[in-house]
Amino acid sequence: MNDKNMIDEIIKIKEEKNIKILAHNYQNYEIQQIADYVGDYLELIEVSKNVDCKTIISCGVRSLAQTLKTVSNKNIVMPVSEAVCPMNKKINIEELTNFKNMHPQFTIVSSINSQVELKAISDICVPTSKAVEIIEKLDSENILFASDMNLGNYISKKVENKNVISWTSYCTIHDRVTKEEIINMREKHPDRPIIVHTQCREDVIELADYAGSTSQIIEYVKSLKDKKVIIGTETGILHVLRRLNPDKKFELLSPTLICMNMKKTSLEDVYKCIAKEDGEVIEIDENVRLKALNSIDNMMKYL
Ligand code: SF4
Repeated sequence: MNDKNMIDEIIKIKEEKNIKILAHNYQNYEIQQIADYVGDYLELIEVSKNVDCKTIISCGVRSLAQTLKTVSNKNIVMPVSEAVCPMNKKINIEELTNFKNMHPQFTIVSSINSQVELKAISDICVPTSKAVEIIEKLDSENILFASDMNLGNYISKKVENKNVISWTSYCTIHDRVTKEEIINMREKHPDRPIIVHTQCREDVIELADYAGSTSQIIEYVKSLKDKKVIIGTETGILHVLRRLNPDKKFELLSPTLICMNMKKTSLEDVYKCIAKEDGEVIEIDENVRLKALNSIDNMMKYL
């Protein structure tokens, strides 16, 4: 079956079976094309709670599917079980639990893109776009931030009235960007703004013109008068930026900005998932789910 026929079949079957496809901004172009909704974790959480359907196909990594299962009463299915965020894999939940037990004065704050087990031992989750704002308002003076230490460092610089420390894990994609790449790009295109993700290293963020979350980058780019922009985050975002800004040209800061786990889901995987029920139905222990939900609900109070 060619891609065109596969797309037609996916669209037909998802209507027949009352299925919606939710895709993360970092997904392949063809997945974004067939998705009913494309967005970041926060946007997809809201969709998963309110959308009228029986089943959601979650195209992203495992932590996205788990997050949607935590908040939504629909069947959540992921087409490719092996799509797992390496940053999440680096975190040892047992060690973090020990830290929490030994240091009760710390509030445990996890990123919204963390795995369900981390959310379950956290006091509150935060989306990258609101991390600084929410942490500033927390009662606790001592914050342990997990899961991205580059983002944690960024937060600790911005939140001056608290002791913010980070657990050692990082996004392998954003952490790869180097300050030399910014310097070289600036020399090549001195007139183009360079925009990076807050999961990049500190020296990269310092040299960039703007640093933000995926949703903040999307909003910031819309507001720019510049017609040519350099983007320092995962390449999938370029599809979204080009769709929203047809008058602007985008170039990736580094060719290494490709998350292979976000790219594991192909059109054929989604087709098999929808037509042959070949995907993984996400199941979460109810006790773990309720604890993770509590940390998400705590986040929602600040939004
Ligand atoms: Fe994980 Fe980074 Fe890939 Fe997102 S882009 S899934 S945080 S490795």
